[in-house]
Amino acid sequence: MMFNAEDIVRDNIKNLKPYSSARDEFKGEASVFLDANENAFGSPLSTAYNRYPDPLQLELKTKLSGIKGLPPQNIFLGNGSDEAIDILFRVFCEPILDNVILCPPTYGMYEVSANINNVQVKKVNLLPSFDLDVEGILSAIDSHTKLLFICSPNNPSGNSFHQDDIELLIQKFAGIVVIDEAYINYSRKPSFIRYLTEYANVVVLQTFSKAWGLAALRLGMAFASEAIIGYMNKVKPPYNINQATQQLALEALDNIAWVNQRIVETVKERNQLMQAVQTLSITQSVYPSDSNFFLAKLMDAKYVYDQLVSKGIIVRDRSRVELCENCLRITVGTMDENQKLITELKQIA
Ligand SMILES: *Cc1c(COP(=O)(O)O)cnc(C)c1O
Repeated sequence: MMFNAEDIVRDNIKNLKPYSSARDEFKGEASVFLDANENAFGSPLSTAYNRYPDPLQLELKTKLSGIKGLPPQNIFLGNGSDEAIDILFRVFCEPILDNVILCPPTYGMYEVSANINNVQVKKVNLLPSFDLDVEGILSAIDSHTKLLFICSPNNPSGNSFHQDDIELLIQKFAGIVVIDEAYINYSRKPSFIRYLTEYANVVVLQTFSKAWGLAALRLGMAFASEAIIGYMNKVKPPYNINQATQQLALEALDNIAWVNQRIVETVKERNQLMQAVQTLSITQSVYPSDSNFFLAKLMDAKYVYDQLVSKGIIVRDRSRVELCENCLRITVGTMDENQKLITELKQIA
C-alpha cells in the first residue's frame, strides 16, 4: 500500500504558512544580533539564557541521531511526548469529522488530547489477555480514521504486544500507526524504529521521562518519515524545547552507561517485587511486565490502596479501568522503597 502523509494531512496545515522566527530567518555566523528583541545585557542568572534557543534543536538531534540510528530529519522533539501526541491530532485530524482508534486500557492522554481537539474516539478494548484485538481494530477502521494509538509496552497493563499483530495493522491501515514506546528501554523487544524505512505510516514515540530519569525536563521524541516530521515542525510552537532542557539532555546523552545500569537494576527489582507480591494472600495474580511497573490483581484493591496511603505509600488505583478490576499499578522503586512496600503489604495480608 502506498502511503503519502500529504494525502491525509489536514488542508489548513498543508496550506499553513508557519511562523518564521528571527532564528529561522538568519542562521549564519554574525557578531551582533539585534534581530530578536532579546536582552543584550544578559540575565540575572550565571548561565546565559538571554538568547532564544535553536527552534529545531539541531545539536541535540544530531547526537540523538547517532544513538537511535536515523537522521535528524526523522526526529521531532516535543515538550514531553504529550506535546507530540497533541501535535499529531492537530496535523492529521479534522475536528468533528475524523476519528482515532484507542485500545483501552491504555495511556489516558490519547483520549484527553482527542477530546481537546474535538476528534472522535473509537475504542477497541484489548483482549482479556491484554493482547491487541486485531480483528476488532480492523473492523473499526473507516475512511475517517486517521490515527491508531498502540502503546507497547502498554500502560497500565505492562506487557508488550506481539510484533506480528502490530506489523499487520501497519500494513492494513491507511492512516498512521502511532507506537508509543515510553517503556521500551525496560523491554527485551526491539524498538519499531527499525520499521521506519519500510513503512511510511509509522510514528514511534519515546521519552526522556522514564528510563532516562528526566521527567522534569519535559522532553519527548517522535521518530517518523521526513514528511510527517516536517508537518509536525510546521505546527509546533517555535521554541518548544527550552535552552536548559536542550543543554541538560545533551549532557545526559553522554551518560548512557549510567542509564543502562539503572535499567538493569530496575528490571531486577521489578522481578523480585512481582515475585513477592505474587505470593501474598491478598493477591489474585500479577501480570507479566516489560516496563518499570506492573499490574497486580488483588482480592480487594480499594482496601489495599487505602491501607497503603495511610502508611504514606502511594500506588495507582486502576480498579475502575476496563479489564483492570481490583488492579493496582505499582511502579518499581529503589530497593529500600520496594522493601517498605512489601513490609506494609505483608501486614495487610
Ligand atoms: C509516561 C508516559 C509517557 C511520557 O510522557 P511525557 O510527556 O514524555 O512525560 C508517554 N506515554 C506513555 C504511555 C507513558 O506512560
